[in-house]
Amino acid sequence: MFRAAKDATIGIDTAMTVAAEEEEAAPVSSPSPRHPDDPLGGRRLVLVSNREPYVRKRPRGGGEPTFERTTGGLVTALDPVMRRCGGVWVAWEPGGDPEEEIRHQVPGKGPRFTLRQVPLTTGEVRRYYYGFANRALWPLFHYSIDRCFFSESQWRQYTRINQRFAEAVLDETRPDDLLWIHDYHFCLLPQMIREQRPQGEGTIAYFLHVPFPAEEVYKVLPWRRQILEGLLGADLVGFHVDKYAADFLGCCERLAGADVDHGRRLVRWQGREVRVGGFPIGIDVKGFSELAASAETADRVARIRTGLGPAKLVLGVDRLDYSKGIPQRLQAIECLLRRYPEHRRQFTFLQIAVPSRTQVKEYRELKSEIDERVGRINGDYGDPDWQPVNYVYRSVPRRELVAYYRAAEVGLVTPLRDGMNLVSLEYCACQTEDD
Ligand code: UDP
Repeated sequence: MFRAAKDATIGIDTAMTVAAEEEEAAPVSSPSPRHPDDPLGGRRLVLVSNREPYVRKRPRGGGEPTFERTTGGLVTALDPVMRRCGGVWVAWEPGGDPEEEIRHQVPGKGPRFTLRQVPLTTGEVRRYYYGFANRALWPLFHYSIDRCFFSESQWRQYTRINQRFAEAVLDETRPDDLLWIHDYHFCLLPQMIREQRPQGEGTIAYFLHVPFPAEEVYKVLPWRRQILEGLLGADLVGFHVDKYAADFLGCCERLAGADVDHGRRLVRWQGREVRVGGFPIGIDVKGFSELAASAETADRVARIRTGLGPAKLVLGVDRLDYSKGIPQRLQAIECLLRRYPEHRRQFTFLQIAVPSRTQVKEYRELKSEIDERVGRINGDYGDPDWQPVNYVYRSVPRRELVAYYRAAEVGLVTPLRDGMNLVSLEYCACQTEDD
């Protein structure tokens, strides 16, 4: 299953990915046949993620809703897989109305799959998503123990929402479906589903899109055992790299008392064998390099370079998240300008920061800190003709991003902790001049 995902994202599905982008707001229509090149040999994939791949847009004044594709690493990687394999994608709909239709065929054209929405209220989103998932698990998994906020009521909500998703998945699955659960929002789901399914039915895979921490950090979590037991409900638990898999195995052995075979990366658990491994996610290399080499991108690159004058472009592209180390990067730029005045005016540092989790206090504070640092550097070192730091606080469309990747002389990828970091791969894929 993981093999299929990798093949579909590295290089093969360029045309489909681009097509998906072009038909973003297409109307919903009836199911279409499966993609002719189906790698699962007729088995359906049931995929679960928090983030929905297509978001419902309600036209003003009524009428049929349309579905727009969302952006982000997970959706970019997995939408082509779903379009190839067919099946069902189960995802949340924040603020969704449970009275409305929750099953839809997406996208509007080409090979389609079923989107099954799980409507969540604002309060549920606050406690489960902005609460436990993003104030307990996210900082813990990124080694930021000091930012962890552990709340019993948020934990209970996380458990309830996992249960709600388990019910939706059980509703949607047929006996031989492959079930593929994604990310830290659903650590309890594999076990919940296994407990409610007849013996041995179907295959459950789980993939974590963030780091898994070492035991000394992980064991700070009050619900450490429940999370491990939840994950061990899967047949296969995947991580980005082998190190995270090894740390997970260590935790299973010492904190859950599981029988672990480190050499074979196996956990013997409740009469079953759970496989564990590192499966680095890829990008659509061909898609990025073709776009980077296009005439349209060349025009944009020329415009960007003209705007910069003689200064070289140094680029940072990140979601605005404390794991990305943006203040630390700015501190390094400031240090460079202070200690090596000869480099002033020779470069411009452009930081593209995509707004993220703005409802969480830590993220708002981080934004203020970055705003302040950028202002201070430009005030201290800039002059009317040159600003050392350009700062864009919004998401930039891919075509524009690719032009910046190409125009830059230096790409700074300096997260403090990161699961994989697709920006680094995209930056390399866009260096079409082999430099
Ligand atoms: N991205 C984007 N627009 C932007 C900035 C980033 O579409 O303005 C995309 C970028 O191309 C990459 C993803 O967001 O595919 C970020 O993925 P990454 O793994 O680097 O970080 P994450 O946000 O998943 O932690």
